[in-house]
Amino acid sequence: MAQILEHPARPALNILLIEDNEGDAFLIQEMLEKTSSRDYSVLHVPTLENAEPEYRNRPFNVLLLDLNLPGTTGMEAVEKVRHDLPTTPLIVMTGMDDDQKAIGALARGAQDYIVKGQYANNILPRSIRYAIERKQFENKVIELVHFDRTTGLISRDLFMNRLEEAIAGAGQSGMDLAVMLLSLRRFKEVTATLGHDVGQKLLKTVAVRLKECFMQKDRIARLEGDEFAMLLTGDLASPESLAAFSGQALRAIERPFDIDGHSLRIGGSIGIATYPACGTDKSELITHADTALHHARQNSAGSFHFYTRKLNEELNARIMLERELRNAVRQRQLLNYYQPIVDLKTGRPCGVETLVRWQHPEKGIIQPGAFIPLAEKSDLILEISDFTMHQSCADLMEWQGLVKGPFYMSLNCTARDFQQLDFYERLCAAIVGTNVNSCQVALEITESALMEDPKQAVQTLAECRNSGASIFVDDFGTGYSSLSYLSRLPLDVLKIDRSFITDIMTNGHNLVIATATINLAHALSLKVVAEGIESKEQADLLKTLGCDAGQGYFFAKPMPKEELVPWMQRCGT
Ligand code: C2E
Ligand code: MG
Ligand code: MG
Repeated sequence: MAQILEHPARPALNILLIEDNEGDAFLIQEMLEKTSSRDYSVLHVPTLENAEPEYRNRPFNVLLLDLNLPGTTGMEAVEKVRHDLPTTPLIVMTGMDDDQKAIGALARGAQDYIVKGQYANNILPRSIRYAIERKQFENKVIELVHFDRTTGLISRDLFMNRLEEAIAGAGQSGMDLAVMLLSLRRFKEVTATLGHDVGQKLLKTVAVRLKECFMQKDRIARLEGDEFAMLLTGDLASPESLAAFSGQALRAIERPFDIDGHSLRIGGSIGIATYPACGTDKSELITHADTALHHARQNSAGSFHFYTRKLNEELNARIMLERELRNAVRQRQLLNYYQPIVDLKTGRPCGVETLVRWQHPEKGIIQPGAFIPLAEKSDLILEISDFTMHQSCADLMEWQGLVKGPFYMSLNCTARDFQQLDFYERLCAAIVGTNVNSCQVALEITESALMEDPKQAVQTLAECRNSGASIFVDDFGTGYSSLSYLSRLPLDVLKIDRSFITDIMTNGHNLVIATATINLAHALSLKVVAEGIESKEQADLLKTLGCDAGQGYFFAKPMPKEELVPWMQRCGT
């Protein structure tokens, strides 16, 4: 059916003219021939059905579409070509007195309209030029909104649109569909230590590697930060394929990245939600994939996790717990326990660590492992820290003189506490409000929390230390601290993590690590506390290795202050 009406040699603009009336088609071609300063190659087809194979076969610079084609309404025709060719400029042609139709077409994404027969003043070539310029501008705007500038992947908005369309399609056809969320490990550490530019280049390279593993490249999005999303349909969304693809994607990002001369090992985690088992709309699928991702992150490095109902129950339980915890803080259900720290040379207590407990009215005592990580996700942790700091300082005042020699109180702080600009003021409020000597106060912060933002940490640590407080690195050996930072941070004590002490009598590796940590600390003029000492043999060995102090069930379990006072009276003198 297609008939090519060619203008003689000159670089041509390819135009697809969809017009059932031969006379009108001829007039348009003649019009372009006569009045234009440019060449046009016009392919004329009489119907949409004839047009489709042509535009699927090759690109056109402009579409000219008659709004009165037989067998379809003008608006259906506009929607069809807009859907099939979203980036091609479109001009519609109407009859006289068809203003409403023309406006409807513009609202559906046509760039311009012309009234048939009214071709005076070069109107058609002008309209073509205008439509091309307008569409280029629109495409640019769409690109900015729909694509992530750092990675070139599609944006969250476009991903959500595609997900919605895919769900509608899957709903009708029964096709498999899955959403996969991937987040990087240690990305924050990279930007904190090597800067924003390295972080951005890293994200770009991650995107390239993901595209290498994924066939449907236009379905990978960067959502925000270091989080990526993938939409899989059909055979790719079967459980076996999802597992295989997850493994492949994770291995791809396990490989070291070479960015600006730095060899970076990142790795990631994946959470997966399938349709319809894990959700029937886009937000449900994303939320559930996120729950699974959260779970995968807490598991071993480089793992993926499918969303399950059980996970959802756990999530709901967590939400409930958070609500209860909020009340608990206000209703004073929190309680400080204290665990003595003992000087290994003298065998006398030299300090205590504050370990908070939650006295739940129905569930009894809840250990901090069950609520501190949850509280850390929101500002609730700040309220908890304020409580423990004030209460600990007040209790410390009561114990003055109970033991001979220097005696300190160590308080656990989280990364979130440390990131608050007013952390130092809050600490001072507790110290000044209770009249405690600030030299008796120590702050414990884990290695990984320190490394989250070492620059900010240096400043906050320096402020706190200038006030007289000491700084302990908690759970040392379990995180990734850079030795150069360790030597530059204002620190006083390394606490060797319990995992190295538990089997120190039988595990040669852990003995080596504990010995090396003690030597490293002493070389940096830091003291060492061993956590989790449960036997006399462990205490004796650590003493022989030169460890300064110890803490653990062998000496005493964490206890409420009513028990601590008699304990100290017994062994403090
Ligand atoms: P952590 O600061 O490393 O505290 C040491 C943990 O090891 C405590 O667990 C303590 O009871 C336990 N422990 C001490 N000696 C032994 C031993 O010989 N054997 C065994 N098996 N365990 C021992 P707990 O009290 O459950 O606290 C767990 C973690 O919760 C703490 O680890 C700390 O990170 C956090 N935490 C506790 N209280 C607070 C708090 O007030 N604020 C903040 N931010 N975190 C807290
Ligand atoms: Mg601690
Ligand atoms: Mg610890």
